[in-house]
Amino acid sequence: MHEISIVYDAIKIVEESSKLNNISKVTKVFMKIGEFTCIEENSLRFAFEVLNKDTLCEGAVLEIKKSKGKAKCNVCNEEFFIDFTNRVCPKCSCYNNNIINGYEMLIYEIEGE
Ligand SMILES: [Zn+2]
Repeated sequence: MHEISIVYDAIKIVEESSKLNNISKVTKVFMKIGEFTCIEENSLRFAFEVLNKDTLCEGAVLEIKKSKGKAKCNVCNEEFFIDFTNRVCPKCSCYNNNIINGYEMLIYEIEGE
């Protein structure tokens, strides 16, 4: 279950940026997860609840936002949604491997006091 190490790192990042922003208690953590990351949302939530003990994140709510896979066409620069099997540009019909969205795993906002 690699969600454990992901959450472990995420909490560290949240703690660091909280200190920089003078936040002494984190109430909400917003996380964005690409649909191709194979991260299981339930495991992530479970890991967060276990690992946030005795950290600034203790008792905080974890908000997870899934982001759709997206590619940018190498030929015509069109940005379009993709899935595992379809990566063909709708505009010029070229096959694309230039994925710009879908593999990310990041914290994009923190709420606290
Ligand atoms: Zn194109």
